Amino acid sequence: MAYQITVIKGDGIGPEIVDETIKVLDAVGEKYGHQFNYERVLMGGESIDAYGVPITDEAIAIAKKSDAVLLGAIGGDTTTSPWYQLSPNLRPEAGLLKIRKELGLFANLRPAYLYEELKGACPLKEEITKGGFDMMIMRELTGGIYFGDRKTEEVNGVMKATDILTYDENEIRRIAKWGFDIAMKRRKSVISVDKANVLDSSRLWRKVVEEVAKDYPEVKLEHMLVDNCAMQLVRDPKQFDVILTENMFGDILSDEASMVTGSIGMLSSASLAEGKFGLYEPSHGSAPDIAGTGKANPIATILSAAMMLRYSFDLDEEAAKIEAAVGQVLKEGYRTSDIYEEGTKKVTTSEMGSLIAQRV
Ligand code: NAD
Repeated sequence: MAYQITVIKGDGIGPEIVDETIKVLDAVGEKYGHQFNYERVLMGGESIDAYGVPITDEAIAIAKKSDAVLLGAIGGDTTTSPWYQLSPNLRPEAGLLKIRKELGLFANLRPAYLYEELKGACPLKEEITKGGFDMMIMRELTGGIYFGDRKTEEVNGVMKATDILTYDENEIRRIAKWGFDIAMKRRKSVISVDKANVLDSSRLWRKVVEEVAKDYPEVKLEHMLVDNCAMQLVRDPKQFDVILTENMFGDILSDEASMVTGSIGMLSSASLAEGKFGLYEPSHGSAPDIAGTGKANPIATILSAAMMLRYSFDLDEEAAKIEAAVGQVLKEGYRTSDIYEEGTKKVTTSEMGSLIAQRV
């Protein structure tokens, strides 16, 4: 089958890690008889240099017509790059905000997976991480307290600030559906995280999630309060499969979960819209400090592409093949600089991409 992928290489290490990801996707295409068509558009600094804006309307139109977007990373050195002399709406990051909004990306997915070979980078005790862990944090991205009305005022001579947290049932339902769909492709367990003992928005969240759960009888649903979840992530991370939560809780919990996996170069992510559409990118930035040195780890982007195959194209076997190839290369002792330890074999960005593509 043919799939149309919009490719944004971006700035810094973006082009290097995306090139390696395309190498791996092409290996998958060849092995399984799929055709991945790539259409490149510019975003971030590269778009500012070419067109004076961080993303053009044409680029967004191309992305909208495609099946999914693959993104490297955008942005430069924020203290020295001329891009940061521009007004905020013209800086590289404004491109990212605009494309997220235009594409209606309302859910963020961040897996936290501990590879046996990299467990030395995990700050948790071995007795806790033994056997590894593999969870997916699903965070609502366009609602909640970050998007509510806010004000700072003086009341009777006292400064007072207010931030309003609202969710409507439709916002909750659409992300809950994605959460259960994803659980169906994994270990069929959803832990919905809220603060229903205090917040009305959380009580509605819980009610709607329970309604959606009725359509997924195979998935086990549990609820957990956010304060307990923060503790459980470091006490017993193995218990989690899919964590489903609102914007601010997810912001905090996903950073906590990524911390326990080790290197930033391994962390993939996705932002999802209604239907099957998604934008897939690594969790890290454009790392201008190592751009062009061959030190960038392409694995986060390659694993993001595996998620694209699984969640946007329903190519589960092909996605698993990429993940297994990454595991195999790590088992064989190959490491980019960021995850290098004595006794392992140091390779460049491009060598890492080729090794993974060969094992596919
Ligand atoms: P960063 O994630 O780019 O880098 C932080 C540190 O991690 C650096 O030392 C870097 O060398 C290292 N690192 C990151 N990715 C790596 C990889 N794949 N392999 C090996 N090492 C890696 O964060 P930063 O330095 O704060 O930001 C740099 C630029 O990226 C800024 O312009 C920022 O705005 C932008 N940024 C973009 C995105 C995005 O495109 N989604 C996300 C975050 C930051």
